[in-house]
Amino acid sequence: PLVLGIETSCDETGIGIVRGHTLLADALASSVEQHARFGGVVPEVASRAHLEALVPTMQRALDEAKVTLADIDAIAVTSGPGLAGALLVGVAAAKGYAVAADKPLYGVNHLAAHVAVDTLEHGPLPEPAIAMLVSGGHSSLLLVDDLTNGVKPLGATIDDAAGEAFDKVARLLGLGFPGGPIIDRTAGNGSASIAFPRGLTAAKDLAAHRFDFSFSGLKTAVARWVEARQRDGEPVPIADVSASFQEAVCDVLTAKAIDACLTHGVRTLVIGGGVAANSRLRVLAEERAAKHGIEVRVPRPQLCTDNGAMVAALGSRLVAAGVAPSRLDLPADSAMPLTSVSVAG
Ligand code: ATP
Ligand code: MG
Ligand code: FE
Repeated sequence: PLVLGIETSCDETGIGIVRGHTLLADALASSVEQHARFGGVVPEVASRAHLEALVPTMQRALDEAKVTLADIDAIAVTSGPGLAGALLVGVAAAKGYAVAADKPLYGVNHLAAHVAVDTLEHGPLPEPAIAMLVSGGHSSLLLVDDLTNGVKPLGATIDDAAGEAFDKVARLLGLGFPGGPIIDRTAGNGSASIAFPRGLTAAKDLAAHRFDFSFSGLKTAVARWVEARQRDGEPVPIADVSASFQEAVCDVLTAKAIDACLTHGVRTLVIGGGVAANSRLRVLAEERAAKHGIEVRVPRPQLCTDNGAMVAALGSRLVAAGVAPSRLDLPADSAMPLTSVSVAG
Protein backbone atom coordinates (compact mmCIF):
# COMPACT_ATOMS: atom_id res chain seq x y z
CA PRO A 1 0.00 0.00 0.00
CA LEU A 2 0.95 3.63 -0.57
CA VAL A 3 0.72 5.33 2.83
CA LEU A 4 1.23 8.95 3.81
CA GLY A 5 2.24 9.79 7.39
CA ILE A 6 1.90 13.09 9.23
CA GLU A 7 3.96 13.87 12.35
CA THR A 8 3.51 16.99 14.50
CA SER A 9 3.93 15.78 18.10
CA CYS A 10 6.79 18.09 19.05
CA ASP A 11 8.82 20.62 17.06
CA GLU A 12 9.16 18.72 13.79
CA THR A 13 6.54 18.93 11.04
CA GLY A 14 7.14 15.71 9.13
CA ILE A 15 5.34 14.19 6.17
CA GLY A 16 6.53 10.87 4.81
CA ILE A 17 5.29 8.60 2.06
CA VAL A 18 6.05 4.88 1.88
CA ARG A 19 5.07 2.03 -0.39
CA GLY A 20 5.21 -1.18 1.63
CA HIS A 21 8.65 -1.06 3.25
CA THR A 22 10.04 1.43 0.74
CA LEU A 23 10.54 5.07 1.64
CA LEU A 24 9.47 7.36 -1.20
CA ALA A 25 9.51 10.76 0.53
CA ASP A 26 10.45 12.24 3.89
CA ALA A 27 9.77 15.98 4.02
CA LEU A 28 10.64 17.81 7.23
CA ALA A 29 10.31 21.33 8.59
CA SER A 30 11.65 22.08 12.06
CA SER A 31 10.98 24.92 14.48
CA VAL A 32 13.97 23.92 16.60
CA GLU A 33 15.76 27.23 16.03
CA GLN A 34 12.79 29.19 17.34
CA HIS A 35 13.03 27.27 20.63
CA ALA A 36 16.80 27.36 21.09
CA ARG A 37 16.91 30.61 23.06
CA PHE A 38 14.37 29.21 25.54
CA GLY A 39 16.45 26.05 26.10
CA GLY A 40 13.47 23.84 25.35
CA VAL A 41 10.44 23.48 23.09
CA VAL A 42 7.79 26.18 23.66
CA PRO A 43 4.41 24.53 22.94
CA GLU A 44 2.62 27.60 21.50
CA VAL A 45 5.54 28.37 19.22
CA ALA A 46 5.62 24.76 18.02
CA SER A 47 1.87 24.72 17.26
CA ARG A 48 2.04 27.90 15.21
CA ALA A 49 5.07 26.65 13.29
CA HIS A 50 3.24 23.40 12.43
CA LEU A 51 0.32 25.40 11.14
CA GLU A 52 2.58 27.40 8.84
CA ALA A 53 4.69 24.45 7.71
CA LEU A 54 2.06 21.80 7.14
CA VAL A 55 0.75 22.61 3.67
CA PRO A 56 4.15 23.36 2.09
CA THR A 57 5.65 20.24 3.68
CA MET A 58 2.76 18.18 2.28
CA GLN A 59 3.45 19.56 -1.18
CA ARG A 60 7.16 18.77 -0.89
CA ALA A 61 6.43 15.19 0.19
CA LEU A 62 4.02 14.58 -2.71
CA ASP A 63 6.48 16.11 -5.19
CA GLU A 64 9.38 14.07 -3.81
CA ALA A 65 7.38 10.82 -4.11
CA LYS A 66 6.00 11.92 -7.51
CA VAL A 67 2.43 11.06 -6.47
CA THR A 68 -0.77 12.96 -5.82
CA LEU A 69 -3.09 12.72 -2.85
CA ALA A 70 -5.48 10.69 -5.04
CA ASP A 71 -2.81 7.94 -5.39
CA ILE A 72 -2.49 7.47 -1.61
CA ASP A 73 -4.18 4.35 -0.13
CA ALA A 74 -4.24 5.49 3.51
CA ILE A 75 -3.24 8.41 5.70
CA ALA A 76 -1.59 7.90 9.11
CA VAL A 77 -1.13 10.63 11.68
CA THR A 78 0.48 10.82 15.11
CA SER A 79 -2.43 10.84 17.55
CA GLY A 80 -0.12 10.96 20.60
CA PRO A 81 1.75 11.16 22.86
CA GLY A 82 3.16 14.67 22.55
CA LEU A 83 2.28 18.33 22.95
CA ALA A 84 -1.50 18.73 22.82
CA GLY A 85 -1.61 21.81 20.59
CA ALA A 86 1.06 20.47 18.26
CA LEU A 87 -0.71 17.11 17.87
CA LEU A 88 -3.98 18.87 17.21
CA VAL A 89 -2.58 20.62 14.13
CA GLY A 90 -1.50 17.31 12.57
CA VAL A 91 -4.66 15.45 13.51
CA ALA A 92 -6.92 18.22 12.17
CA ALA A 93 -4.96 18.39 8.93
CA ALA A 94 -5.01 14.60 8.52
CA LYS A 95 -8.78 14.55 8.99
CA GLY A 96 -9.13 17.29 6.40
CA TYR A 97 -7.01 15.42 3.83
CA ALA A 98 -8.75 12.12 4.62
CA VAL A 99 -12.21 13.60 4.10
CA ALA A 100 -11.24 15.64 1.05
CA ALA A 101 -9.60 12.68 -0.72
CA ASP A 102 -11.85 9.99 0.78
CA LYS A 103 -9.02 7.94 2.31
CA PRO A 104 -8.93 5.72 5.41
CA LEU A 105 -7.27 7.43 8.38
CA TYR A 106 -5.10 5.81 11.06
CA GLY A 107 -4.31 7.61 14.31
CA VAL A 108 -1.01 6.09 15.45
CA ASN A 109 1.25 6.07 18.47
CA HIS A 110 4.39 8.19 18.02
CA LEU A 111 6.47 5.80 20.13
CA ALA A 112 5.46 2.69 18.19
CA ALA A 113 6.28 4.68 15.05
CA HIS A 114 9.83 5.28 16.38
CA VAL A 115 10.16 1.47 16.40
CA ALA A 116 8.36 0.81 13.10
CA VAL A 117 10.59 3.18 11.10
CA ASP A 118 13.40 0.64 11.18
CA THR A 119 11.46 -1.53 8.71
CA LEU A 120 12.10 1.11 6.03
CA GLU A 121 15.79 0.46 6.36
CA HIS A 122 16.07 -3.19 7.34
CA GLY A 123 12.81 -4.77 6.15
CA PRO A 124 10.30 -6.73 8.24
CA LEU A 125 11.08 -6.82 11.94
CA PRO A 126 11.81 -10.36 13.16
CA GLU A 127 9.39 -10.95 16.02
CA PRO A 128 9.60 -11.31 18.93
CA ALA A 129 12.09 -8.48 19.25
CA ILE A 130 13.22 -6.28 22.10
CA ALA A 131 12.76 -2.60 21.29
CA MET A 132 14.65 0.07 23.15
CA LEU A 133 12.94 3.39 22.76
CA VAL A 134 15.16 6.29 23.81
CA SER A 135 13.94 9.77 23.01
CA GLY A 136 13.39 13.25 24.39
CA GLY A 137 10.40 12.20 26.47
CA HIS A 138 10.77 8.43 26.88
CA SER A 139 13.22 5.66 27.72
CA SER A 140 11.66 2.22 27.64
CA LEU A 141 12.43 -1.41 26.98
CA LEU A 142 9.63 -3.21 25.18
CA LEU A 143 8.92 -6.77 24.19
CA VAL A 144 7.45 -6.73 20.69
CA ASP A 145 5.53 -9.85 19.64
CA ASP A 146 3.54 -8.08 16.95
CA LEU A 147 4.10 -4.38 16.52
CA THR A 148 0.71 -3.81 14.89
CA ASN A 149 -1.05 -5.41 17.82
CA GLY A 150 0.72 -3.93 20.83
CA VAL A 151 3.96 -3.96 22.77
CA LYS A 152 4.70 -5.17 26.27
CA PRO A 153 6.61 -2.65 28.41
CA LEU A 154 9.38 -4.35 30.40
CA GLY A 155 10.73 -1.23 32.03
CA ALA A 156 11.12 2.51 31.66
CA THR A 157 12.87 5.47 33.18
CA ILE A 158 11.75 6.30 36.70
CA ASP A 159 12.78 9.96 36.29
CA ASP A 160 14.38 11.72 33.28
CA ALA A 161 14.34 10.32 29.75
CA ALA A 162 17.73 9.67 28.16
CA GLY A 163 17.31 12.52 25.66
CA GLU A 164 16.20 14.83 28.43
CA ALA A 165 19.41 13.98 30.32
CA PHE A 166 21.47 14.84 27.23
CA ASP A 167 19.60 18.14 26.88
CA LYS A 168 19.97 19.06 30.58
CA VAL A 169 23.66 18.19 30.76
CA ALA A 170 24.35 20.15 27.55
CA ARG A 171 22.59 23.09 29.11
CA LEU A 172 24.63 22.99 32.29
CA LEU A 173 27.80 22.75 30.20
CA GLY A 174 26.62 25.80 28.22
CA LEU A 175 26.56 23.85 24.95
CA GLY A 176 23.12 24.81 23.59
CA PHE A 177 19.91 23.04 22.55
CA PRO A 178 19.08 20.33 21.64
CA GLY A 179 21.93 18.83 23.60
CA GLY A 180 22.11 15.28 22.24
CA PRO A 181 23.80 15.96 18.92
CA ILE A 182 26.10 18.61 20.47
CA ILE A 183 27.27 16.29 23.28
CA ASP A 184 27.74 13.50 20.74
CA ARG A 185 30.05 15.76 18.70
CA THR A 186 31.82 17.27 21.72
CA ALA A 187 32.44 13.83 23.23
CA GLY A 188 34.34 12.87 20.10
CA ASN A 189 37.18 15.16 21.22
CA GLY A 190 37.32 13.86 24.78
CA SER A 191 37.88 10.69 26.75
CA ALA A 192 35.44 8.95 29.07
CA SER A 193 37.86 9.27 31.97
CA ILE A 194 35.45 10.48 34.67
CA ALA A 195 33.54 7.78 36.57
CA PHE A 196 29.95 8.97 36.66
CA PRO A 197 27.24 6.82 38.31
CA ARG A 198 25.27 4.13 36.45
CA GLY A 199 21.70 4.44 37.71
CA LEU A 200 19.75 1.36 38.83
CA THR A 201 22.56 -1.11 38.17
CA ALA A 202 23.50 -1.97 41.77
CA ALA A 203 22.41 -5.43 42.94
CA LYS A 204 19.84 -3.98 45.35
CA ASP A 205 18.24 -1.87 42.58
CA LEU A 206 18.21 -4.66 40.02
CA ALA A 207 15.78 -6.72 42.11
CA ALA A 208 12.95 -4.20 41.65
CA HIS A 209 14.22 -2.23 38.62
CA ARG A 210 16.01 -4.69 36.38
CA PHE A 211 14.74 -3.12 33.14
CA ASP A 212 14.17 0.40 34.44
CA PHE A 213 16.41 3.42 34.00
CA SER A 214 17.29 6.46 36.09
CA PHE A 215 19.22 9.40 34.70
CA SER A 216 18.51 12.22 37.11
CA GLY A 217 21.21 11.10 39.59
CA LEU A 218 23.71 11.07 36.73
CA LYS A 219 22.75 14.60 35.71
CA THR A 220 23.18 15.77 39.33
CA ALA A 221 26.56 14.02 39.57
CA VAL A 222 27.73 15.85 36.44
CA ALA A 223 26.51 19.18 37.86
CA ARG A 224 28.33 18.57 41.19
CA TRP A 225 31.52 17.55 39.42
CA VAL A 226 31.48 20.69 37.26
CA GLU A 227 30.69 22.95 40.26
CA ALA A 228 33.59 21.47 42.23
CA ARG A 229 35.99 22.23 39.37
CA GLN A 230 34.73 25.77 39.09
CA ARG A 231 34.99 26.30 42.86
CA ASP A 232 38.63 25.22 42.67
CA GLY A 233 39.15 27.75 39.87
CA GLU A 234 40.06 24.97 37.45
CA PRO A 235 38.95 24.85 33.82
CA VAL A 236 36.13 22.40 33.06
CA PRO A 237 37.23 19.79 30.50
CA ILE A 238 34.00 19.98 28.50
CA ALA A 239 34.92 17.24 26.03
CA ASP A 240 35.89 14.76 28.77
CA VAL A 241 32.76 15.53 30.80
CA SER A 242 30.64 15.04 27.67
CA ALA A 243 32.34 11.77 26.79
CA SER A 244 32.09 10.46 30.36
CA PHE A 245 28.42 11.40 30.68
CA GLN A 246 27.63 9.87 27.31
CA GLU A 247 29.48 6.69 28.24
CA ALA A 248 27.48 6.37 31.48
CA VAL A 249 24.17 6.68 29.60
CA CYS A 250 25.18 4.31 26.78
CA ASP A 251 26.67 1.75 29.17
CA VAL A 252 23.43 1.40 31.14
CA LEU A 253 21.16 1.49 28.09
CA THR A 254 23.03 -1.21 26.20
CA ALA A 255 23.63 -3.44 29.25
CA LYS A 256 19.93 -3.47 30.13
CA ALA A 257 18.78 -3.90 26.53
CA ILE A 258 20.99 -6.95 26.10
CA ASP A 259 19.92 -8.34 29.46
CA ALA A 260 16.31 -8.00 28.24
CA CYS A 261 17.14 -9.92 25.04
CA LEU A 262 18.89 -12.71 26.95
CA THR A 263 16.17 -12.91 29.61
CA HIS A 264 13.43 -13.25 27.00
CA GLY A 265 15.40 -15.43 24.59
CA VAL A 266 15.16 -12.77 21.87
CA ARG A 267 17.82 -12.41 19.17
CA THR A 268 16.83 -9.05 17.70
CA LEU A 269 17.28 -5.66 19.35
CA VAL A 270 15.79 -2.65 17.59
CA ILE A 271 16.67 0.82 18.87
CA GLY A 272 14.56 3.88 18.07
CA GLY A 273 14.00 7.48 19.15
CA GLY A 274 16.28 10.53 18.95
CA VAL A 275 18.96 9.12 21.26
CA ALA A 276 19.34 6.14 18.92
CA ALA A 277 21.13 8.63 16.66
CA ASN A 278 23.97 8.73 19.23
CA SER A 279 27.20 7.47 17.68
CA ARG A 280 28.54 5.87 20.87
CA LEU A 281 25.24 4.11 21.61
CA ARG A 282 25.25 2.56 18.15
CA VAL A 283 28.82 1.27 18.44
CA LEU A 284 28.47 -0.03 22.00
CA ALA A 285 25.15 -1.77 21.31
CA GLU A 286 26.62 -3.47 18.24
CA GLU A 287 29.79 -4.51 20.13
CA ARG A 288 27.98 -5.98 23.11
CA ALA A 289 25.19 -7.62 21.11
CA ALA A 290 27.67 -9.34 18.79
CA LYS A 291 29.13 -11.23 21.77
CA HIS A 292 25.75 -12.88 22.33
CA GLY A 293 24.75 -13.40 18.69
CA ILE A 294 22.09 -10.70 18.94
CA GLU A 295 21.32 -8.64 15.84
CA VAL A 296 21.05 -4.87 16.43
CA ARG A 297 18.85 -2.84 14.13
CA VAL A 298 19.14 0.94 14.30
CA PRO A 299 17.83 3.16 11.52
CA ARG A 300 20.06 5.87 10.08
CA PRO A 301 20.29 8.91 12.42
CA GLN A 302 17.93 11.03 10.32
CA LEU A 303 15.16 8.47 10.85
CA CYS A 304 15.81 8.20 14.61
CA THR A 305 14.68 11.75 15.43
CA ASP A 306 11.08 12.78 14.71
CA ASN A 307 9.95 12.55 11.08
CA GLY A 308 6.93 11.74 8.94
CA ALA A 309 8.39 8.57 7.45
CA MET A 310 8.08 6.79 10.79
CA VAL A 311 4.36 7.50 10.93
CA ALA A 312 3.91 6.32 7.35
CA ALA A 313 5.96 3.20 8.17
CA LEU A 314 3.69 2.25 11.07
CA GLY A 315 0.60 3.10 9.00
CA SER A 316 1.88 0.82 6.26
CA ARG A 317 2.29 -2.07 8.75
CA LEU A 318 -1.25 -1.50 10.08
CA VAL A 319 -2.76 -1.51 6.59
CA ALA A 320 -0.80 -4.65 5.66
CA ALA A 321 -1.99 -6.39 8.84
CA GLY A 322 -5.63 -5.58 8.03
CA VAL A 323 -6.12 -3.40 11.10
CA ALA A 324 -9.30 -1.31 10.93
CA PRO A 325 -8.81 2.44 10.33
CA SER A 326 -9.60 4.91 13.12
CA ARG A 327 -12.82 6.88 13.16
CA LEU A 328 -12.85 10.40 11.76
CA ASP A 329 -13.40 11.82 15.25
CA LEU A 330 -10.12 10.33 16.49
CA PRO A 331 -8.54 12.41 19.24
CA ALA A 332 -5.19 14.12 19.67
CA ASP A 333 -4.18 12.23 22.82
CA SER A 334 -1.22 13.92 24.50
CA ALA A 335 -0.92 11.05 27.01
CA MET A 336 -1.55 8.14 24.61
CA PRO A 337 -0.18 5.03 26.36
CA LEU A 338 2.60 2.97 24.85
CA THR A 339 0.30 -0.04 24.92
CA SER A 340 -2.03 1.35 22.24
CA VAL A 341 -0.38 1.26 18.83
CA SER A 342 -3.24 2.88 16.96
CA VAL A 343 -6.59 4.44 17.74
CA ALA A 344 -9.20 1.69 17.47
CA GLY A 345 -11.82 2.12 14.73
P1 ATP B 1 9.29 11.58 22.31
O1 ATP B 1 9.62 10.77 21.09
O2 ATP B 1 9.57 10.88 23.58
O3 ATP B 1 7.92 12.18 22.22
P2 ATP B 1 10.78 13.68 21.11
O4 ATP B 1 9.91 13.35 19.96
O5 ATP B 1 10.97 15.08 21.53
O6 ATP B 1 10.29 12.83 22.36
P3 ATP B 1 12.93 12.67 19.57
O7 ATP B 1 12.80 13.65 18.46
O8 ATP B 1 12.62 11.26 19.28
O9 ATP B 1 12.19 13.08 20.90
O10 ATP B 1 14.37 12.81 20.12
C1 ATP B 1 14.87 14.06 20.53
C2 ATP B 1 15.89 13.79 21.60
O11 ATP B 1 16.96 13.02 21.06
C3 ATP B 1 16.47 15.05 22.19
O12 ATP B 1 16.48 14.93 23.59
C4 ATP B 1 17.88 15.06 21.60
O13 ATP B 1 18.82 15.70 22.43
C5 ATP B 1 18.18 13.58 21.48
N1 ATP B 1 19.20 13.31 20.48
C6 ATP B 1 19.18 13.62 19.16
N2 ATP B 1 20.36 13.27 18.57
C7 ATP B 1 21.14 12.72 19.56
C8 ATP B 1 22.46 12.19 19.62
N3 ATP B 1 23.23 12.15 18.53
N4 ATP B 1 22.90 11.74 20.81
C9 ATP B 1 22.12 11.78 21.91
N5 ATP B 1 20.88 12.28 21.92
C10 ATP B 1 20.38 12.74 20.77
MG1 MG C 1 12.84 17.54 17.73
FE1 FE D 1 9.92 11.34 19.12
